[in-house]
Amino acid sequence: MAWSKGGRRERRQRCAVCGRLFHRHPRKGLGQRTCGGRECQRERHRRACAEWHVREPGPDRDRRLRQRLLKNGVNRRPGADPRVEIDWDVAESAVGAMVRAVVEETAGVLVRWIEGSVVAAPPAAGT
Ligand SMILES: [Zn+2]
Repeated sequence: MAWSKGGRRERRQRCAVCGRLFHRHPRKGLGQRTCGGRECQRERHRRACAEWHVREPGPDRDRRLRQRLLKNGVNRRPGADPRVEIDWDVAESAVGAMVRAVVEETAGVLVRWIEGSVVAAPPAAGT
């Protein structure tokens, strides 16, 4: 590989964490971003994880939000407003006050619509 035949200067690189110059490992090559220092490698790993979580918000973040959204242990009376099962403050911190208002009010419309249809419904057959 061409880069490995380069002069000394090309093989020296500045550590992305501590800023010291270091000699690249001949086989790790250009991907190496930090000197061999344990703290620098640990910090590099921490930054890579943080970047990954920003890039890939996907399943993990989504799952944790869903868990926090549902209020655990809420004992809703039969027929009571099901919106009490949602932690609306968690929802607001995730999507903002405007989206919270839209979702909460839309849920309210659905709750009232269902309440109306339950009252209007004839008794179910066989019960
Ligand atoms: Zn370093």
